[in-house]
Amino acid sequence: MSARLLDGQALAARMQQEIRPQVAEFTRRRGRPPGLAIVLVGQDPASEVYVGHKLKAGTEIGFRADLNRLPETATLDETLALVQRLNREEVYDGILVQSPLPKSMGAGAGITVFDAIDPSKDVDGLTAVNVGKLVQNRAALISCTPAGIIELLERERIPIAGQRAVVIGRSDIVGKPMALLLLQRDATVTICHSKTPNLAEVCREADILVAAVGRAAMVTTDFVKPGAVVIDVGVNRVSDRPTVELLYPKGHRRRAVFEKNGSLLVGDVHPAVAELASALTPVPGGVGPLTITMLMMNTLRAAHARVAR
Ligand code: NDP
Repeated sequence: MSARLLDGQALAARMQQEIRPQVAEFTRRRGRPPGLAIVLVGQDPASEVYVGHKLKAGTEIGFRADLNRLPETATLDETLALVQRLNREEVYDGILVQSPLPKSMGAGAGITVFDAIDPSKDVDGLTAVNVGKLVQNRAALISCTPAGIIELLERERIPIAGQRAVVIGRSDIVGKPMALLLLQRDATVTICHSKTPNLAEVCREADILVAAVGRAAMVTTDFVKPGAVVIDVGVNRVSDRPTVELLYPKGHRRRAVFEKNGSLLVGDVHPAVAELASALTPVPGGVGPLTITMLMMNTLRAAHARVAR
C-alpha cells in the first residue's frame, strides 16, 4: 500500500484564501487590520526561520504582523515588560512569544512569560486560562499545531470518533492539546512519552498515530498498523550524509535536496511508513504550513472577539 499524502501546504493555501476576505472586511470596518505581535528573544536559527514564515504569511494575508526582538541577554523581567506593553497596545489582537526562550532565563521562564499574555490575545493557546478552557472543551484560542491537524483530518474526511488514537509526545504545545482535541472528538486516546514501555507495540494499536517527538525517522514501520493514518509533526534538520543515505535510496529526489542544501528537514516518521499507512503528512509541507495558518485564524478570531467586547 502507498499512503495518500495529506497535503498541508495545499490546504493551508486554500484556508488562507478563505480568510483573506474576512481580514479585508475587518480592516474596512475597523479602520485597521487585525494585528499580530511576535516576540523573539535571542537568535535561535530555527526560531528565526519559523518567525520569518509567520510574519510573511501574516503580511501577505493582510494582517499587521510585527516582530519585537529582544537580545539573547534579555532578562525575564525585560521580557515580561515587553509582553505587558503589547497587552496594552490596541493595535495588537494577538501576541505570540516564540519558543524556546534562552536557557539563561531559567527552566520555568516559558510558563511565566506565556502566563503574562492577556488570554484574549493568546493566539498560541498557552496561557493557563486557555489551557483550562481547552480541558473543559470551551476554548476559543487553541494551540495552533494540534488545531491545524484537526482541521486537516476533518477536511480530509478522516474519521476520528470511535478510532484508537495514539499521540507520541506530551508537550504543552503539541502532545497534550492534540490528545485533548482527539478525545473531544470521541477518539480513544493514548499519550506516549520517553518513559512509555513497549512504545512500538502501543503505537501499533493506533488507527490515527500522531508523532510529535523531535527525533528524525524514529517512527519506523514497526510502529504502524497497516492502514493507519499517520501525522508527522516532527521537524528535524539532518546534516549527516550516512543518515540521509540510510533513509532515502539512491536517486530519491530528497537526496538531491540534501546535495543542494547540505541538510534536510526530516520528520519523526521513517519514509518506509508510506508503504504501510493509508494516509501520511509529509515533512516538509504537512503540518508546518497548517500551524502558520491556524495562527492567522486565531489572530482573526481574537480580533473579532476583542472588538465585540
Ligand atoms: P518537546 O521536546 O517539548 O516534546 C517532545 C516529546 O517527545 C516529549 O513529551 C518527550 O517525552 C517525547 N519523547 C522524546 N523522546 C522520546 C522517545 N524516545 N520515545 C517516546 N517519546 C519521546 O517537543 P515539541 O512537542 O515542542 O515538538 C515535537 C516536534 O514537533 C519537534 O520536532 C518540533 O520541532 C516539532 N514541531 C513542529 C511544529 C510544526 O508546525 N510542524 C510545531 C511544533 C513543534 P518526555 O515528556 O518524557 O520527555
